[in-house]
Amino acid sequence: MVISKANVGFLLKPVGAVCNLRCDYCYYRRVMEKVYSGRTIERFSPELLERIVSEGMKHGYPTAQFSWQGGEPLLAGKDFYREALLLQKQFAMPGQNVTNAFQTNGTLLDDQWCAFLRENNWLVGISLDGPPEITDQHRIFPDGCGASEAILSGLSLLQKHRVDYNILSVVSPANADRAPEVYRYLRDLGVAWMQFIPSVERTADSDSDPGPLPPQSRKPSLDNPGAENLIPGKLLAAHSVSADAYGEFLCDLWDTWIEEDGPGRVFVRDFEAMLSVYAGHPLPLCVWSPTCAWQLLVEHNGDVYPCDHHAYHNWRLGNLLRDDVQTLIEHPLAQQFEGRKRLYSAKCRGCEWLVLCHGGCPKHRMAQDENGTPVDLLCEGYRRFFAHSRKKAGEIVRRLLGIQPIEPAAMNPNILERQSVRRQSAQGKTLQQDARSGKIANKRDVSRISRNSPCPCGSGRKFKQCCGR
Ligand code: SF4
Ligand code: SF4
Repeated sequence: MVISKANVGFLLKPVGAVCNLRCDYCYYRRVMEKVYSGRTIERFSPELLERIVSEGMKHGYPTAQFSWQGGEPLLAGKDFYREALLLQKQFAMPGQNVTNAFQTNGTLLDDQWCAFLRENNWLVGISLDGPPEITDQHRIFPDGCGASEAILSGLSLLQKHRVDYNILSVVSPANADRAPEVYRYLRDLGVAWMQFIPSVERTADSDSDPGPLPPQSRKPSLDNPGAENLIPGKLLAAHSVSADAYGEFLCDLWDTWIEEDGPGRVFVRDFEAMLSVYAGHPLPLCVWSPTCAWQLLVEHNGDVYPCDHHAYHNWRLGNLLRDDVQTLIEHPLAQQFEGRKRLYSAKCRGCEWLVLCHGGCPKHRMAQDENGTPVDLLCEGYRRFFAHSRKKAGEIVRRLLGIQPIEPAAMNPNILERQSVRRQSAQGKTLQQDARSGKIANKRDVSRISRNSPCPCGSGRKFKQCCGR
C-alpha cells in the first residue's frame, strides 16, 4: 500500500516530554521517562530540525503541517522557531501552504511570544480543564501549586495579541459531572473553540504498548464497562474517566451548548465532527474516523512513532536522521498501525453507531466483547451520547444545511444485512432469491452501493475499502 504523501503531517516534540509543569495525569511524560530512561533529553539538533522541515515540506503538498508539542514546546526558545520558519521558507515548493500549531500549557507565554505567534499566523492550543478549582486539581507546578493563574495570564495575552487559539480540556473525574459549568466558564472567558479529551490511562507503567486489560480484571458483561468495573486490580489510573461519566459529560455538554449557543457561535470539536457525519461529510476527528490520522510523531532525538498514543518501543518506526518519510510510512509497523483501527469487535460490527465512532481509538480499546476482541473502554458512554443527541443533530442538519441527515444504522452493512435476512425469512424467501429477482428490500440497502463508489459515510474512501468491508 502506498500512503498519499499529501496526508502526512508532523507532530513534533522538540524538547521531548520536558515540561515546566508536573500535571499528574500526563501520560506522555510517564511513558517517555520509561522509553528514554537514563538519557539526557536535548532539543532537536540543527541537523534534525533541517531534516524534519525538508521532509515535512516534501511530503506535505499542497499543505505542510507542523504541530509543535511537548512536554512544553515553548522551552525550545524563540530562536529555535525563527530558524524553523527560515527553513520552511527555504524548502517551500511553489504555491505550497504551511501551517504551524502549538500545543502549550500557556504558562510561559509573554508579549514577545504572542507577537511572534500572531505575526506568523500560528494556531495555539492551550490546556485548561475549567475553573481554577478544577484545573488546579491536576495541572500543577513541581512545587504542587496550581497552574491556573499562570495559564489564564497566558490566555489573556493571546487574546490581547489576537492570536488564533483553542482550548483543550481533559475530562477526568474532576470535571466529568460539571460539564455545564466548564462550558460556561470557558465561553465566558471568550473562548469560541473548544475540544474535550477523555483521560483514559492504565496504571501499569510500560515502555511497550500494553494492549487490552487482562480478562480477570473485568466483569464478564460489557453492559456497563465503566472504569469502576475495571479498577479492582488498580489497572486504570484514578484520573481516568469512566464510560458512564464520560457519556454523561457529553450529554450535559451537548444540552448546554444547544440551548445556550449551538453551531456557529461556539465550536465544540466533538459535536462539529459528529454533525459533519450526519451531513454526509468526512469525520475530521481521528478517534471517530475510519482510519487513524497520519501524523508522524518525531521525538527529541529523531525517533519516529505513528501517533502520540503509540510512542512505545514496540511502535518505533525508525529515526528521521537515517530514514526518509516514505520509508517510515511503508514500514510494516506503519501498515499494522493503519489496519489496527479497522479490527472491529463483533460488538462494533453490529452496532448502529459504527459510522459515528468507528470503534473509537485503538489506544482506548482496553475492554473486550464477549468474543475477547478489544472494545473501546468508553463505548457505552459513546452509545449513550449518540442516542441522546441523534434527534437534535438531525434537526440541526435539516435546519442549517437544508438536507436530509444520514441515518447511522442505515450506514452499517452488517445491520442492514441482518435486517434483510430477517425480512426475507419472514417472507419465506432467501436473500439469494431476492438478489436474483433484483428486488431491494430497503431503499437505503447498501447492496445498491457499488463497491467502487465513494463510501456514503463520508470517509473519502471507496465503499469496499470502508464500511463495505
Ligand atoms: S491511535 Fe487514536 S489518537 Fe492515534 S491516530 Fe489512531 S485514533 Fe487517533
Ligand atoms: S459505540 Fe462505537 S465502540 Fe461502541 S460498539 Fe458502537 S462502534 Fe463500537
